[in-house]
Amino acid sequence: MSRKETKMASCVFCGESATKQNQEGQPVCRDHAEQPPKNVECPDCGLPMKLKEGQYGFFWGCEGYPQCQKTFQIQDLTDRED
Ligand SMILES: [Zn+2]
Ligand SMILES: [Zn+2]
Repeated sequence: MSRKETKMASCVFCGESATKQNQEGQPVCRDHAEQPPKNVECPDCGLPMKLKEGQYGFFWGCEGYPQCQKTFQIQDLTDRED
């Protein structure tokens, strides 16, 4: 069976597989669909970070790019740490 699904996105809140997107276009699981959008501030320059979609799925990228190239994986910023 060929697996040609759309990229598996992780919920920005918990890291579980996301089933939808919130109003900001952030991938969220069903439990967190009603949650206000997650805000992340860049620890390097203080600008807000935006969710971007790259080759390997969603990641957080600094709005100051390309001057600031700070990025986070979704999993880096969820409550879940394993
Ligand atoms: Zn979630
Ligand atoms: Zn930055």
